[in-house]
Amino acid sequence: MTEPAQYPDLVDRIVNLSKRRGFIFPSAEIYGGFRSTYDYGPLGVLLLRNVKDAWWRSMVQLRDDVVGIDAAILSSPRIWEASGHLANFTDPLVDCRNCHERWRADKIEGTCPNCGSADLTEPRAFNLMFKTYAGPVEDEATVAYLRPETAQGMFVNFMNVLTTTRKKPPFGIAQVGKSFRNEITPQNFVFRTREFEQMEMEYFVPPDEADTWFHYWLEERMRWYLDLGIPADHLRLRHHEADELSHYSAATADVEFLFPWGWDELEGIANRTDYDLKAHAAHSGERLEYFDQASGERYVPYVIEPAAGATRTMMAFLLAAYREDEVGGERRTVLALDPRLAPYQVAVLPLSKNDTLVPLSREVLGLLQPVAVCDFDVTQSIGRRYRRQDEVGTPFCVTVDFESLEDRAVTVRHRDTTEQVRVPIDRVAQEIAQRLRP
Ligand code: ATP
Repeated sequence: MTEPAQYPDLVDRIVNLSKRRGFIFPSAEIYGGFRSTYDYGPLGVLLLRNVKDAWWRSMVQLRDDVVGIDAAILSSPRIWEASGHLANFTDPLVDCRNCHERWRADKIEGTCPNCGSADLTEPRAFNLMFKTYAGPVEDEATVAYLRPETAQGMFVNFMNVLTTTRKKPPFGIAQVGKSFRNEITPQNFVFRTREFEQMEMEYFVPPDEADTWFHYWLEERMRWYLDLGIPADHLRLRHHEADELSHYSAATADVEFLFPWGWDELEGIANRTDYDLKAHAAHSGERLEYFDQASGERYVPYVIEPAAGATRTMMAFLLAAYREDEVGGERRTVLALDPRLAPYQVAVLPLSKNDTLVPLSREVLGLLQPVAVCDFDVTQSIGRRYRRQDEVGTPFCVTVDFESLEDRAVTVRHRDTTEQVRVPIDRVAQEIAQRLRP
């Protein structure tokens, strides 16, 4: 395999492939689109789910110290008052007096990226939360917010989880789900959108262990991206300088990916101290503490938070997987996705549309479906069908040909090497399951 491609127009190629093959569509496209929102198509929903499942597997399933929750998106203003989001979750907004475009002041360099004018208004604080009303009456009493992050769901449920699971620090609460931010300038496809998905975990620890756990999670999270195929030279940790830290943070580092436009954030890992639990305790009047019965000690845990974006990370996996190479004198596009992330893990392909091959092909499909996510494709020449599967990252193609009717064996073709091996039908599910195992 060749190395990740360095195409100057790589983002355009990914946008194009996403649309053409059913990963990501512009939302409300038949009405001309809607304000940088996107819909995930048949392949995108599979890839995105695999990213989220891989995260959940590593953060929850393979551990005994982390549990999950799924908190409400529609949330009480009291949460956001306590967390500081109502007062502080703002970006500096400037208007261009010449062309009237609006920009995030910290993302531009003093001139309007649209028309080049330097005649900009003074920055003003723009709150990024989406406000709505819960109930038929639109007044102050019914104000609700769409959550701008999943993290607060873990803090407000801290006591619920503690008492129902009997966990004790160090332990974590994980959540995957949608968040909403009224970004001033959504950009770079699904890198920055107003509706997106996050994968966040709050890890509650004794205060004197916070620094050790902070470094533990830096390493764990880097390992996750590398294990799923982000090349080491496209991934780095960037520690925040003291003046860049959020008001609640004792230390923060970002996991950054080398996007075509430069290094940019995939995930923030922060030592949030006891800021959040103390803020919610003060505003709610509830005790949000851990009582250690063995030592008789009572304390407010510190929190280490690895906070990643699912949709943004999915885009990074697509960019990192994109290749163009040549096999048998023919150019092809390949997504070299890890088999755990690939939308389809196997494609079952009858060599010809000829009716005699279809029943056996369906039998093979039935054997494979319980062990892998399968596509079934009978149209076009076999070469073109291989190309189509390469382009969406399917690691294995299983071809049923006329000989299969005689010898009850099929050809298994590997995406990266294009190497083909003959496998008996009664062993094919086992063989594929084995090769899919990490
Ligand atoms: P930025 O500085 O890029 O606005 P942030 O530092 O505010 O992001 P966090 O609040 O730390 O982001 O959110 C954690 C993760 O959620 C980010 O690392 C990113 O992967 C994802 N994320 C945040 N905002 C967006 C967005 N508008 N679109 C897609 N993903 C996002």
